[in-house]
Amino acid sequence: MARVFSGIQPTGELHIGNLLGAVQNWVRLQSEYDATFCIVDLHAITGAFYDAAQHRQRTLDMAIGILASGVDPERATLFVQSHVAAHSELMWLLNAVAPLGELERMTQFKDKSAALESIPAGLLNYPILMAADILLYRADKVPVGDDQVQHLELSRELARRWNAAYGGGATVLLEPEPLLTKARRIMGLDGESKMSKSKGNTINILDSPEVIWEKLRPAKTDPARKRRTDPGTPEICNIYDYHKHFSPPETVEMVAHNCRTAAWGCLDCKRVLADNMVAVLAPIRERAAELTGTPGRVEEILAAGAATARERAAETMTVIHERMGFLPAR
Ligand code: SF4
Repeated sequence: MARVFSGIQPTGELHIGNLLGAVQNWVRLQSEYDATFCIVDLHAITGAFYDAAQHRQRTLDMAIGILASGVDPERATLFVQSHVAAHSELMWLLNAVAPLGELERMTQFKDKSAALESIPAGLLNYPILMAADILLYRADKVPVGDDQVQHLELSRELARRWNAAYGGGATVLLEPEPLLTKARRIMGLDGESKMSKSKGNTINILDSPEVIWEKLRPAKTDPARKRRTDPGTPEICNIYDYHKHFSPPETVEMVAHNCRTAAWGCLDCKRVLADNMVAVLAPIRERAAELTGTPGRVEEILAAGAATARERAAETMTVIHERMGFLPAR
């Protein structure tokens, strides 16, 4: 079975953008690949959203969300990045072959550093850690969105450079291929930016039916529908997009028709969406309640995942140590 690796930042409870954009894809991948999924808590410390006081809880909440959404520890390896020290070590070793100029040219680095007065080196080295995550498990495939293609290309280049410098003609580090999946960019409730916790425009997967309704009710719709009698254009409305993910096809058709003909108001449309969303999320909420109802269960799953990941990482690191000429530890 080909190996796939993917990571997600521990931003706390999963929102529907995470669910539809990444985790549902993981659930599919775990039956087709030898899948390794990582909660990248080391990456998170370079982000604007990082808060040491909440880091631990957010990591745990992310794990609960991933497991409740259907990632099965019997079929995939799920672990926390900082539990496997080899990620940080390999990152340091890859520093030896990482070209500074290319790191400085990374679009994400340029965007994020432009807003800062003092730029932490971690922001520059972030893609090296990402390369280490992937190369450590000799992943064949990595699911990538548009914003990560450049980083994956750098991982491939680091593998090539390391192999050329230390591989002695062998391909020790595999060049990972992108796994192009249907891009699902889920917009936030404001309809203006991608759904993200830092923007405060999320619906979380464990939100109660009441909270889902409170959030949907004021959400932005087609601005041309000022009055109930004004026809709308569903294609430009975020609510219609959510319907496509949570409502059955015949309802999606009805939504488009009722919107174009002003046969119903936006609140009617949102009520139907809220009911369908609650129904889709109900089994996830139930599984999350089961997981949290057994103290220590999630930590146990993460510990088992880290043990498997450590074993695999050790195989790669042994070869790397040998090739780079380090004295074996006794
Ligand atoms: S009727 Fe529905 S799809 Fe049309 S603008 Fe209102 S919320 Fe959007």
